[in-house]
Amino acid sequence: MLLCVHAGMGALIGRLLPGRAAAVLLGVGAHAALDAIRHHDNGGDDPAAVDALACLADAGLTALGIAALGLLGGWGSRATLGAISGALPDLELALPWNRRPRGTRLLFPSHAIARLHSCLSPFPVPLRFQAALAAFVWVLALSTDAPARGER
Ligand SMILES: [Zn+2]
Repeated sequence: MLLCVHAGMGALIGRLLPGRAAAVLLGVGAHAALDAIRHHDNGGDDPAAVDALACLADAGLTALGIAALGLLGGWGSRATLGAISGALPDLELALPWNRRPRGTRLLFPSHAIARLHSCLSPFPVPLRFQAALAAFVWVLALSTDAPARGER
């Protein structure tokens, strides 16, 4: 699943929860839940086949969204923490030893255990749909009057 989907959903979930700890825990939990939905990944199952430009755009848009949340709503806001914790598990995918086709050392359950990854739904969610979903959740996450209401 695209990184920007994980972060955007984490931001939305964080906004809905009563506390920062819950935002962090459910941001990480939502990452696992989203990974469980059958989906296409950039490069498929082969890390060597990743479209680097698309990966860079995904990471850049995610960083931009998180920065916008941090600047608008506060770096310790539930939405910002939810977005960061939603994106965090995918950092391990960028580690050099996890960029090769064999011998990876993945720790996050939905990455390390094959039956927890891309296992739900009868059809895979295409990358274009994931990008549209990301745009939708980020618009919702950023179009809030939360800072004005003192929501942190
Ligand atoms: Zn993941």
